[in-house]
Amino acid sequence: MQAEDTARRRILVVEDDPLVSELVEDCLDEGGFDVQCVGRGSEARKVVETAPPDVAILDLGLPDGDGIALTTQLKGLVPHMGIIILSGRSAPVERIVGLEVGADDYLCKPFEPRELVARVRSLIRRIDALRGMAEAAVANAATPSPANQGGDPSCYQFEGYLLNLERVSLNSPEGETLHLSSTEFALLRAFVERPNRVLTRDQLMDIIHNNDMPAFDRSIDVQVARLRKKIEPDPKEPRFIKTIRNQGYIFAAPVSVGG
Ligand code: CA
Repeated sequence: MQAEDTARRRILVVEDDPLVSELVEDCLDEGGFDVQCVGRGSEARKVVETAPPDVAILDLGLPDGDGIALTTQLKGLVPHMGIIILSGRSAPVERIVGLEVGADDYLCKPFEPRELVARVRSLIRRIDALRGMAEAAVANAATPSPANQGGDPSCYQFEGYLLNLERVSLNSPEGETLHLSSTEFALLRAFVERPNRVLTRDQLMDIIHNNDMPAFDRSIDVQVARLRKKIEPDPKEPRFIKTIRNQGYIFAAPVSVGG
């Protein structure tokens, strides 16, 4: 399955330590990926500008700058590219900052090569699912389709926001398109499909990752914090996504189906 799945998937590795770079390249190569390695952030930007990879794996300590800043820049260039930070810095604050600026995952050195390959596959599955939805939206737009046929709803509204699952888009009450990462979109979808229900972190993790991604601590909290910043009028006093102490989160806004 892996050869078919991943044969043409391109992974960019940004790592200045040749030993680590070689190890990462070898394990991804064995996993069936097309791997390109660079040692500097400036080279990474060039690659992403000219031929964006499916996933970039970034070291945090690079000779020409910080991997956190690079994450922001690369996400700005290609928002739907997956980013995994691979770092020797294991402090929770580093992980949280990395995820906050838009990395999809974070793995600490020393790492288990098979785990890295599993994380890359998991991320590519999530990206593909979003792409598939976007392509289906284009196909649907090309053929006139009768309004809601009673299947799965494709749009949800809450407090003036419109979440469109087919277009993979979120519009604000002012009509602006808000840019969400693949994980933020999946998380918001999980909430609006289950309003007014307490969801534990484990449940949310299962829903958004379909169980195929190893849990990493605090990731749900970080993703919730990022989503709140994008949709809550006051992220410090959330009205939509409320924290239920010792239990999890609840989506407290009334949700209606259809757009
Ligand atoms: Ca380094």
